[in-house]
Amino acid sequence: MTRRQWLASLQVVASLKGFQAPAPPFQRIDTHTHIHRNAPVLFAALEKNQWRCLSICVSRAIGDEPSDLEEMIRGSIEVHRITNGRIAWATAFDAREYESRDFASRAIDGLRQSLDNGAIAVKTWKNVGMGIRSKSGEYLLPDHAALAPIFDAIEKADKTLIAHLAEPDGAWLPLDKNNPEIAYYSSHPEWHMYGRPGVPAKEAILAARDRVLERHPKLRVVGCHLGSDEEHWDRLAKRLDKYPNFAVDVAARVRYFVRGDHEQARQFLIKYQDRVLYATDFTLAPADDAAAARELQETHDRDWKFFARKDTLTYRNSQVPGLGLPEKVVHKVFRENAVRWLPGLVRS
Ligand SMILES: [Zn+2]
Repeated sequence: MTRRQWLASLQVVASLKGFQAPAPPFQRIDTHTHIHRNAPVLFAALEKNQWRCLSICVSRAIGDEPSDLEEMIRGSIEVHRITNGRIAWATAFDAREYESRDFASRAIDGLRQSLDNGAIAVKTWKNVGMGIRSKSGEYLLPDHAALAPIFDAIEKADKTLIAHLAEPDGAWLPLDKNNPEIAYYSSHPEWHMYGRPGVPAKEAILAARDRVLERHPKLRVVGCHLGSDEEHWDRLAKRLDKYPNFAVDVAARVRYFVRGDHEQARQFLIKYQDRVLYATDFTLAPADDAAAARELQETHDRDWKFFARKDTLTYRNSQVPGLGLPEKVVHKVFRENAVRWLPGLVRS
């Protein structure tokens, strides 16, 4: 960024006030964001508030939709460079051609290029399991043999697989007032699986993911959104017990802890203090960087308060007490686990 841009951004940052909880004596890390273009105001705010981020590319296309992955990768490399590594990045691969013979070798070549350009992890997304289909119409599942060489290559390169597979239970439930995710699936009907013929059950997708964990015991896997077990901490606990190569992020799912049983949430987070990574799923919109910076700062401050402190805070219009987790645990969730599960995120 130029000096003039920098000075202008400082002024905007100075105007963002009133949301800050006292900062801890270490840099916190948000391990799940989508920031793929230059946004000086946002970058200055992250620096001022001492946050680091991982920006994750996603291959979102299904069917014959055009892919925006290459553009996202180019943007992420640029963001990584401009921020001097404060925003690290993760790449992705397009799985749609999985039936073609040279699919894996081409995907691996693409990943190598990204790793050469500084990517520290690889994302696989919910279109595997819920969107991409074979020529005969079957849904591609994460444990399909075509994907195994790619997971092998990630494991050999000592990179982390970031896996957003499946969705909250609401995707498989009728869209009525009892559906806790009615807001999301009303505006994203393409991911609402209820009543669609041939769609795998949620448990079938997660079982296929578990087979990947089992077949690649040295592959580090971070399951996004509490590994899609956001409503089932007991089930998630069993999976964490069974697969030592599995950790989860809390991106866009802190609300499940907020509205759930706080004592259970506390016990879960204390027991799995080495396996949970702080994350937001913040996505940088095309315009209004100052609003974006403010939004991210508010989310970071609110979540930090919820995990680290006991006093009451406002979370989505309700007043709730914080979890008041031990200092050692919040340090792991907000930093150390990211450093360990996503090597390269913080350059030493
Ligand atoms: Zn995301």
